[in-house]
Amino acid sequence: MSEIPFKGEIRRDYITGSDVIFTFSRDKRPKDFRSEEVMYGNAENCPFEYGKENLNTTIKFVGEPWKLRLMYNKYPIVNDEVTPYKNSDFFTKYVNYGHSYVIVDTPEHSQRFHEIDDSLLQKWFDLVAEAEKLAYSDKKIRHVYTFRNSGSISGGSLYHPHTQIIGFTFILPIIKQELEIIKNNHGRCILEEALKKEKERVLIEDDEAVAFAPYGSRFRGHSIIMPKRHIDYVGRLKEKETKSLAKFIKTILSRNYKIFGSHSYNLIFHELKDNKKIHFYIEIAPRFSNFGAMELSGLYLNSLRPEEYVQRFNETN
Ligand SMILES: [Zn+2]
Ligand SMILES: [Zn+2]
Repeated sequence: MSEIPFKGEIRRDYITGSDVIFTFSRDKRPKDFRSEEVMYGNAENCPFEYGKENLNTTIKFVGEPWKLRLMYNKYPIVNDEVTPYKNSDFFTKYVNYGHSYVIVDTPEHSQRFHEIDDSLLQKWFDLVAEAEKLAYSDKKIRHVYTFRNSGSISGGSLYHPHTQIIGFTFILPIIKQELEIIKNNHGRCILEEALKKEKERVLIEDDEAVAFAPYGSRFRGHSIIMPKRHIDYVGRLKEKETKSLAKFIKTILSRNYKIFGSHSYNLIFHELKDNKKIHFYIEIAPRFSNFGAMELSGLYLNSLRPEEYVQRFNETN
C-alpha cells in the first residue's frame, strides 16, 4: 500500500465553525515541558544552543557571534508542502499552506526575555519585521501571526526563549472578530477611543507608545502595548517607536515577574498588513492555569481586576 505521507491539513468543525489545524510530524519535536520536573528544559539537549546551528536552516544571524537568529521552523504547523484541497457538501477542509519561522531570541538558554539588552530587543523588533515581510512577500499569504509562548502552560514546548512567526493564507479568527468590533464602531479605531477612556488603567506612557490594563482583562495582569500612531503592522514601526515598545515590554514582563513570581505567559502581535482599520498592538497574557471548561465556552474567569493590577504594578519597580 503506497499512501502519500500526511502533510497536515485544516478542517472546519461543522458544529462550532472552528477551524482546526491537524499538524504533521510534530510528535517528534523536542519537548521540555513533559513534566514538572523538567520545567526548565535541558540546555544540553536544546537545539537552539551555540554549536547546534546545523540542526535548523538559518535565514539570518544577527551579531558575531550571533545574538539573534531567524530560521525556518523545523516543526511547522503550516508548510509549503500541502495535501490536495478537498471539499464535500458537508465536510470542509483547507490546505495548510503557509510559512513558519522561528527567532531564537537569545543564545542563552536560561535568560529571560526581559533580561535581554534594550538595543538587542530593538533588533529583535527589526528581525520580526523582516520575517513578516518575508512571509508577506508570498502573495498567497494574507495574515502573519507573531507570538511568544513562554513557560509550561503557555502552549510552548521548548524552554529556550524564542518567537514564532507564521504566515497564513487566511485571516485568523481573533483579527476577524476585532474587525467586526471596529465595523460596529462605525469604522473608528477602537484602540484610540479606548485610550481616552482607559486613563486610570494606564501602566506606562511616553510620546510614542502607551501600555494599559484593559477594562475587560481576560487574564490576571493582562496588558496591551501599542504605538500611538495608527499603523497596521510591525513593518511600519519607526526606530523611536520600537525603542519605546521594547522598553515597555521589558518593564511589564519584569514587574509581572516580581508581582506574580515565575509564571508562564503569551506575548501576541495583533496586526494585519495593509488593513487601514487595524491599529497594531502587542498583548501580554500571563497564564496561571490551562483553559478549563468555562473558557472553552468562550467565557473567561479572572480573579484580579485590572485596577488592582495597575495598583500593584505602580507599587513595584
Ligand atoms: Zn537552549
Ligand atoms: Zn488607531
